[in-house]
Amino acid sequence: MLSPSARFSALALLAIVAPAAIVAALGYVSIRQWEASSELLYREQARDMAAMAAEKVEMTLRRTEDAFLDRVQAALRSGPALERAVDQVLADTPLVRRLYLIGARGELLYPAAWRDDDRTVFAPLVSAAALHRLARDGKREVIADHQVCLALLTQRAGEPVVAAFVRDTDALRRDILETTLGTLESPTILAVLDQDGRTVYSRAPIGDAPRLLSVAFRDTLPDWRLAIYQTPGASPRQAVRRQVMLFTGALGVLVAVIVAGIVATWRLMRRETEMARLKSDFVANVSHDLKTPLSVIRMFGETLEMGRVTDEGRRQEYYRVITREGERLSRLIDNVLDFSRIEGGRQTYDMTPTAVEPLVRATLEAFAYPLAQQGFKVEVRVAAELPDVMMDADAVGQALANLIDNAIKYSGDDRALTIDARVVDQSLVVAVSDRGVGIAREEQAKIFEKFYRVGRSDTQGRRGSGVGLALVRHVAEAHGGDVTVESAPGEGSRFSLRLPLGEA
Ligand code: ADP
Repeated sequence: MLSPSARFSALALLAIVAPAAIVAALGYVSIRQWEASSELLYREQARDMAAMAAEKVEMTLRRTEDAFLDRVQAALRSGPALERAVDQVLADTPLVRRLYLIGARGELLYPAAWRDDDRTVFAPLVSAAALHRLARDGKREVIADHQVCLALLTQRAGEPVVAAFVRDTDALRRDILETTLGTLESPTILAVLDQDGRTVYSRAPIGDAPRLLSVAFRDTLPDWRLAIYQTPGASPRQAVRRQVMLFTGALGVLVAVIVAGIVATWRLMRRETEMARLKSDFVANVSHDLKTPLSVIRMFGETLEMGRVTDEGRRQEYYRVITREGERLSRLIDNVLDFSRIEGGRQTYDMTPTAVEPLVRATLEAFAYPLAQQGFKVEVRVAAELPDVMMDADAVGQALANLIDNAIKYSGDDRALTIDARVVDQSLVVAVSDRGVGIAREEQAKIFEKFYRVGRSDTQGRRGSGVGLALVRHVAEAHGGDVTVESAPGEGSRFSLRLPLGEA
């Protein structure tokens, strides 16, 4: 059968774990869908962006070239100073490199002569057929193979002239691509590839970024493409994963915090149950402890009162028993009262310089009768010339009495009590040793806790309330010292009360 606190914890855990598992499962399914749809959306957006960017590039390029051709046309109309006028237009238009103006019969109007072997490239392009095509299709054309641009212009008299030119790649990159693409808002990398797939321009280093897609330019840049690369770490899948990790992390922390809370509550409940049990034991133990000496006192008192004891020796013996039991009662009540004062934070200590040896002897004296009666071998070793020590003599005396009382209570057949007092490292150490039942290692820390009494069987018969050592520890700590134990089951125990010397 589970205890109430264990049942509470099990239920609470179930109440957390079950919803958390459901949330995790639902989360997983919707994350999968989210991932797929965001990937799709991302690609669509990228395609739109690419198409728009390509259109913008072509528009800008066309506008620049139109303006250039308008000026060349004006130069053609102006007549004799053609060469100078066209030179000027070219100087103003870095985008255009190598312009040739060719008449309808193939004659070169500008410049005066072909440069290098341009004739072999340009002349065949400017045929009668080309003229016809240009006149028919809107007067502009880019020949893909050579990226040569052709345009139909007219001379003053109206005869057709073909303007043929190539573009300067650096100027194209700088004046057209950079100005149009460089300013676009996009989380991806935009790049322009030429007819051979070489990168002419890219907005950021591509490195090994994966290519998402590419779209072809139209007739202004035939065979060139605008490509979109994915910025490292910016894929929608990765973004979703990051969100998921964040969400999972938060959920994990939440669950961990709740579980920790439940565990802490459970521990607290268990501790409280244990405390309640110890307290009720304490009440029973104290009552029992009070009753025993009281009944002894009553019995001996009544016997004496009835006047039946005639032998003076016996009478003296009875008086001593009554006194001793009375002292035991006082000590017990002092213990309980002090303990309650300590618990309530009301205990005060009155520090005065105190001689050690008289205190030890007086405390031991109170136990002279039981020690003698039970045949204890008592040894007191107080180092010579101990200094006076600042302490509350009553409190320390009582702590010592508790240690001696325990040594007597927890001794078996080997009855020996040793008290030694000496100075070790600026502290007075008073040690009380016995050769009694001893204490198991795992119990040694617990015996100083209030109400704690070592496992029933061998202490059952011995009276006690479980507050003696708690009191000793409190007194030691109030003096800035401590109390420690060395012990082995069956071999005995040695309790050392350490009080710093301070300035006496
Ligand atoms: P109690 O009233 O039970 O003696 P204490 O606080 O004085 O309470 O001691 C706590 C427990 O420590 C005791 O119940 C006993 O089991 C153990 N103990 C204390 N002193 C000794 C000792 N000298 N030898 C063996 N066990 C001891």
